[in-house]
Amino acid sequence: MLAAAVLLITNVTVIDGTGAMPGPPTSVLIRNGRIASVGEVRTPPRGAEVLDGEGKFLIPGLWDMHTHVLSDADQAFPKLLAAGVTGIRNMHVEAADSLAIALRVRSEVEQGMRAGPRVVANGPILDGPNPVFAGSIAVGDAPTARRSVRLLKQRGVDFVKVYDLLPRDAYFAIAAEARRLHLPFAGHVPIWVTAEEAARSGQRSIEHLSGVFEACTADGKVDGELKRAMNLWAITRTISAQQMHAAVRKAAATYDASICEPLLAVFAAKRVWQCPTLCMLGELQKAGMTVVRQMKDAGVMLLAGTDAGNKGSEPGDSLHRELELLVEAGLNPMEALQSATRNAASYLGKEKEWGTIEKGRVADLVLLDANPLEDIRHTRRIAAVVVRGRVVPSHP
Ligand SMILES: [Zn+2]
Repeated sequence: MLAAAVLLITNVTVIDGTGAMPGPPTSVLIRNGRIASVGEVRTPPRGAEVLDGEGKFLIPGLWDMHTHVLSDADQAFPKLLAAGVTGIRNMHVEAADSLAIALRVRSEVEQGMRAGPRVVANGPILDGPNPVFAGSIAVGDAPTARRSVRLLKQRGVDFVKVYDLLPRDAYFAIAAEARRLHLPFAGHVPIWVTAEEAARSGQRSIEHLSGVFEACTADGKVDGELKRAMNLWAITRTISAQQMHAAVRKAAATYDASICEPLLAVFAAKRVWQCPTLCMLGELQKAGMTVVRQMKDAGVMLLAGTDAGNKGSEPGDSLHRELELLVEAGLNPMEALQSATRNAASYLGKEKEWGTIEKGRVADLVLLDANPLEDIRHTRRIAAVVVRGRVVPSHP
């Protein structure tokens, strides 16, 4: 990368991520990887690289808050950077040495040895005794749960991920141990735990609206069907997967907003974030849009995430798709942008570091050729990407 320690972006419309509407075009000065000032600069400092922002729009770097890309970082990272994704929360690496891979890639980015988005990563998924994915830790009881959380904390993961097949006592033991160690836990709502129990246990984020449709169906029979299918699924996956998906589809089709209201109030009150990954909900997507709209109105906090790296979610591209779907669901373009910028930083407890364009923040930025507040699809019109104050070279 070209190593200009001082970068000046001139005459640019700044959409700073705080929610404030942009003022007249101005300058953004970056020194040593951080934003030194936002405001007119009469003479560029000596040796500064100058980026002409005339007619352009500057937004904070985007975060994809649900990815699976670390085992394929060589392929995925250039795509993410080119798409303006300067940060990711990686949710699992499907490999026997998943922990080692996550820690290595995260550290390579931190040390500047690898060009890529900054990485927030879990280690292996914590799942039940017969885990869904390779590379998970099989957790069958509370002592194993506590031991696993302690081990992962010791190894330096940023959070732990809980999954579908965790038994109840193991799940609640993970929650208690994670709380004791101040380690966030996030992920799916396990089959045998309700979304409300997850929220009250301190689960920091819920992915793919898991547990939500099941909790909000008007069809009293769905729950029983679902539990039967899921119990079977835990043992013989392929045979009952269809039944299970059919039951979840039924729950989504019979979604009742009034039944959901108290649950969403708990999410809002307990600050449980939702990462709906609308771009991957497939047949559940129509109901997904409805519930996301209802979540927004109820003050539930939303994150943009995509399952990037999984089949059907192209790293980088899918984040822009997710922003479009969030707008389609009922967020305004500013709110959609914030779900991938300020909200991501806030979720991570790093509002003073990332997520907005303000003095002192890390200079992860995206320069756009068109205004994303007019049309969210304009986040795809990328003129330049800046990571830690340096312009990412475009493809040769
Ligand atoms: Zn995922």
